[in-house]
Amino acid sequence: MLELLFLLLPVAMGYGWFMGRNSVKQNDHSAKQALSKKYSTGLNYLFSNQQDKAIDYLLEALKVEDDSVEAHFAMANLFRRRGELDRALKVHEHLVQQKHLPTKDKQQAVFELAKDFLSAGLFDRAEVMFQKSSKSKAYGLKSLASLMQIYQSTKDWQQGIVLKKAIVKTRDKKLLHNLANFYCELATLALEDDQFIDVLELLENALVQDPSSCRANWLMAQVYENHQQYIEACQCYQDIYQQDKEFFPDVIDKMHHCYTQLDSNEEFYKFIRRVYDETASTSALICYLGYLENTYSLAKAKEFMLLALKRRPTIRGFKHFVKMQMTGSEQESTSENLEVIKQLISEYINVKHRYSCRTCGFNSSTHYWSCPSCHDWEQLKPIRGLEGE
Ligand SMILES: [Zn+2]
Repeated sequence: MLELLFLLLPVAMGYGWFMGRNSVKQNDHSAKQALSKKYSTGLNYLFSNQQDKAIDYLLEALKVEDDSVEAHFAMANLFRRRGELDRALKVHEHLVQQKHLPTKDKQQAVFELAKDFLSAGLFDRAEVMFQKSSKSKAYGLKSLASLMQIYQSTKDWQQGIVLKKAIVKTRDKKLLHNLANFYCELATLALEDDQFIDVLELLENALVQDPSSCRANWLMAQVYENHQQYIEACQCYQDIYQQDKEFFPDVIDKMHHCYTQLDSNEEFYKFIRRVYDETASTSALICYLGYLENTYSLAKAKEFMLLALKRRPTIRGFKHFVKMQMTGSEQESTSENLEVIKQLISEYINVKHRYSCRTCGFNSSTHYWSCPSCHDWEQLKPIRGLEGE
């Protein structure tokens, strides 16, 4: 089907051009003859599957007129979809060189050429072209997104931040979210060098661009924790809960540590109880059970756990319940049996992935800020449901 379309396209282009020329410029006979010869030669090459030669002749023959521009774009896009990038490049470059085209077509040609370069992995040249088309109204947003994609691939975070003004102007949430993560990347580097002030400044910038970036708060909490500023760290963790309830289970232990340093465990468990009531998170539940056991009794913790599992069964919750049963059991045989069950469940959990990408569904046992599959930022979160949170 593609082949057929591809073959018919130049025919249609040529025919349209030929008829137009014929009716308007009857006296331009010799020029017309020369072009029609190039055109038929081009077609001949096309039919004999010598596509490069065919393109040369057809580009020459079909001098780019306003009404054949669309057909040129269609031809080039067809090449690109078929993975024939060199041919797509050739057509788009030809279009870019046509000075007489209307601005709209010129901008499209530059943008499409940039996409060809990007597909071909020629980042430097793609960058130049996207920079150019980022100033146009029609392609500004898409070009900025592509530039950010390039800088993410090359880890050129600083270059991405140079685009801040233009990105802020677009008010595009996804772009601002990407920009915030560029700041977080720089902050991570600064954190490694222990440049405290720089880190905080970068993270504040990240939060300005994207107030919902829990990654910025996550990093900020690390900095505060490293400097024993536990009150500030606790505030960051609370902010994370407000920003992203799904991500929160991963910071419970760190948060607990900070509250312990402040000698405010009561306050911590009050908060965790709220988290459990609102999200039914298994990590929050297990954490809260520890409190019940220490403050009241194991029996009270078990009672709570049983109700919780009935309310929302998860494998992790089940494993914890078995563990609790074993602790209190006086009959060794029962304890042994339960040990087996516990091990089975443990093994089951170990082969399961802990994180999944909310954008593309990629699963992983390790946490990544940028999804290794779709490269979206902050979309890898603990899996929910029976086998997760
Ligand atoms: Zn993904």
